[in-house]
Amino acid sequence: MAFEQPATVPNEFNQLDSGNSDEEANEEGVVGNVSKFCVTPPSYTGKPKKGHLVFDACFEGGNLGRVDFISEFEYDLFIRPDTCNQRYRVWFHFSVENVKADQRVIFTIVNFSKTKSLYREGMTPVVKSTSRPKWVRLPPKHVYYYRCPEHRKNYVLSFAFCFDKEDDVYQFAYCYPYTYTRLQAYLDSLERKGLDYVQRDLLGLSVQQRRLDLLTVSHPDNLTDEAQKRVVFITARVHPGETPASFVCQGLIDFLVSSHPIAKQLRDYLVFKIIPMLNPDGVYLGNYRCSLMGFDLNRHWQEPSPWAHPTIYACKKAMIDMYNSKDHDIDFFCDLHAHSTLMNGFMYGNTFDDPDKQERQNVFPKLFQQNAEDFSLTNTNFNRDAVKAGTGRRALVGIFDDSVLCYTLEVSFFSYMANSSGGTLPYTEEGYAKLGRNLARTFLDYYKVQSVIPSMPVAGATGKSKGGGSGGASGGGAGGKDSSSRYLMGEASSSAGRFGSGGGRAK
Ligand SMILES: [Zn+2]
Repeated sequence: MAFEQPATVPNEFNQLDSGNSDEEANEEGVVGNVSKFCVTPPSYTGKPKKGHLVFDACFEGGNLGRVDFISEFEYDLFIRPDTCNQRYRVWFHFSVENVKADQRVIFTIVNFSKTKSLYREGMTPVVKSTSRPKWVRLPPKHVYYYRCPEHRKNYVLSFAFCFDKEDDVYQFAYCYPYTYTRLQAYLDSLERKGLDYVQRDLLGLSVQQRRLDLLTVSHPDNLTDEAQKRVVFITARVHPGETPASFVCQGLIDFLVSSHPIAKQLRDYLVFKIIPMLNPDGVYLGNYRCSLMGFDLNRHWQEPSPWAHPTIYACKKAMIDMYNSKDHDIDFFCDLHAHSTLMNGFMYGNTFDDPDKQERQNVFPKLFQQNAEDFSLTNTNFNRDAVKAGTGRRALVGIFDDSVLCYTLEVSFFSYMANSSGGTLPYTEEGYAKLGRNLARTFLDYYKVQSVIPSMPVAGATGKSKGGGSGGASGGGAGGKDSSSRYLMGEASSSAGRFGSGGGRAK
């Protein structure tokens, strides 16, 4: 359990001899997180004073490996690489305290492992503090991403910040954090509601014995032994630093369990199987890409090992068992990710030689674009790159016959270009959740096109979709469609007309 508590870094770390090259510092020097590390000027020998900043990353999801004092106003920061894999240095999340009011600093993150970044497009880190607990993005005018001569011309990220409240603890992160503990609290609260159409199962455990949760959302009649189950399988956070995927996933779940009429219809006809966190250890440890043992789990779907990749093994086994059982039809597999260089939401899909199969693959993204103004068909891409052979999308389509549609849903760490306005809008936590709700809605449109779900709610059918829709999960946020009015006003039938038989496919 060496990694259970992030290791602390001794103070001597700050005085590494200056002969160490950046390369050595990147590759070898940074192993654990800083722990309540007080940075004083090198010549200073007294007790720490107010304004001698104290850095900490020894908390869940924390990541900061080293701090160098450059001047009273300037600090170089080093990301701690993923556990057991030095190649990945992107995610950071740390706190700063013991500040003086109006203390101005420049923090420079000097050891990113990727140079191509949305920081070039204006992305900025997020910040919160004790008295302002909501994460916000830093203003772009205070953030610079550039090649730095002092760091062997590597790309570095500098941001200027003014601490305004002496007693506040400030936190900075690569993007809005979403921890394992937060997910557990969310699933616990969902369980306490006692909804008869929500079931939580323990599918397995990670290497460090964390829960691999499987959520099933469907009308209880669909879950009897006799019922034929039409399954939509969703997974997220195989890449632990891709926190936006969790906000999308929770937005989807919140919508599916709500009393919204579309959610009811979806539950009446479909069985949603959702694994919200495929890599709980990596999330806990503050990794960007890998598991505890340094594996990119999204390259191990072809032959997952039960001891090295237990969560992938358990997920794949559950899907194959379902696939082989007579009473389950898996229609969709969709794995949620976040993208570090592209904007908008978009999908990766597979390519097929058979044009009919290819067209089937194309339908869902086209419908998605109609529901979500931040979803981009331009960025959506179908491929069979060899380098992606170990991803869930690629490996599973090879195992299942072509009846299962396998996708990766990506969403930008930064922003989207709205289809309507043409302006660039940074994503908020709510913006990500909204994409999740629109994903849910798109399943309704898809199954109407397929005539699995009737266009008009049918009284007396399995559907209990009439009335009662308070639309609790649908409101808020800019853009997209307000489906509560759309469907309650009977626009459902016209939507069927658009996509119904006779080639009225979405553009
Ligand atoms: Zn990813």
